[in-house]
Amino acid sequence: MKAVRIHQFGGPEVLIYEDVLDPRPRKDQVLVRVRACALNHLDVWVRKGLPGVKLPHILGSDIAGEVVEAGEYVTGFRQGQRVLLAPMHFCGRCAKCVAGLQNQCREFTVLGNGVDGAGGDPSRADGARAGSEFRGGNCGNSDGSDVSLPGDYHRGR
Ligand SMILES: [Zn+2]
Repeated sequence: MKAVRIHQFGGPEVLIYEDVLDPRPRKDQVLVRVRACALNHLDVWVRKGLPGVKLPHILGSDIAGEVVEAGEYVTGFRQGQRVLLAPMHFCGRCAKCVAGLQNQCREFTVLGNGVDGAGGDPSRADGARAGSEFRGGNCGNSDGSDVSLPGDYHRGR
């Protein structure tokens, strides 16, 4: 796939559009074709050198797209479903995650910060998000299609 990555910190000149390995979703993940990724100020901070970012790195935390593939452990999503990703990343297995306190997980971070973001297409989404963040109420788009909004944050197992 193609992605915009950084191999060093700096100004906009460090953004490189290049080939990267295709994401391979786990059984508890969905694969989302990225249709839009907003520029968040986080992207600027990360590009300039936020601590803890491993290089090379794919920016992008605010993602909208459509489900290309859902792992066998993921329910409630179908191929072609339009989705909006909540950008939180967490393990989904620890006591905090199981208790619904994912923001207290030791692995908690934000897409495009501690883990690769959506500057590539397609992008993987963890099952924790797929089983929960996608599960929120639907609202209609102007074209009549559905978009799933972030809802509760319970693990979808
Ligand atoms: Zn956790």
